[in-house]
Amino acid sequence: MTSVLVKDVSLNFGAVEVLKSLNLDVTEGEFIVLLGPSGCGKSTLLNCIAGLLDVSAGQIFINGKNVTWEEPKDRGIGMVFQSYALYPQMSVEGNLSFGLKNAGLPKDEIARRIARAASILQIEPLLKRRPAALSGGQRQRVAIGRALVRDVDVFLFDEPLSNLDAKLRSELRVEIKRLHQKLGNTMIYVTHDQIEAMTLADRIAVMKGGLIQQLDAPQAIYGKPVNRFVAGFIGSPG
Ligand code: ADP
Ligand code: MG
Repeated sequence: MTSVLVKDVSLNFGAVEVLKSLNLDVTEGEFIVLLGPSGCGKSTLLNCIAGLLDVSAGQIFINGKNVTWEEPKDRGIGMVFQSYALYPQMSVEGNLSFGLKNAGLPKDEIARRIARAASILQIEPLLKRRPAALSGGQRQRVAIGRALVRDVDVFLFDEPLSNLDAKLRSELRVEIKRLHQKLGNTMIYVTHDQIEAMTLADRIAVMKGGLIQQLDAPQAIYGKPVNRFVAGFIGSPG
């Protein structure tokens, strides 16, 4: 079944067409990586799916529902950014519960969800701390936790590991993979890092200039690139 459907989506910033009638069909439970060089439109596409940007043309469906003009909070998605975007004045627990309190969830349900997310992400000892007292890797776990507690069907990641050093990056990469195996939900993950794409993806969408050049399993992209750009981009070390 289709989880996220991007249908003929264009996005213009002024006179510049950043997404060019782009199509993407993501199957339920699939881990899709959007891979491409800086400026090719990866974040723009993710922000359109999330509802943080309005499309100029085309439609977006999530679980069969046309969400093109729905508020981000009503789309059933959770987003994790490169910059963590945690509230500095709140504890980790406060960061995790904030959106749930706003949504009017009962206290015991909030506590249950936080306990589960904290256990999965191994951040139980950090719950009373402020973000400033955490390492980059710990902050990114909390940012993932904030998406996790919302019990959403679709996770969107925008270069979540780019600010971390190589060791943490590979550690968290393994954890994100494990998280996906455990939850089984749909994940759309933006990166410009070929290794991340090859190790995480069920399918990779290689993007250039606001278009998907090839959408295929990592082995197929690597073994049968459709054009020189894909061959060069996948072949060259990140
Ligand atoms: P990526 O995430 O692949 O690096 P982006 O989606 O951020 O690329 O950007 C795609 C293109 O759109 C780039 O050329 C960028 O300069 C342009 N762009 C992004 N955001 C804006 C904006 N708010 N206003 C104008 N141009 C933008
Ligand atoms: Mg980007």
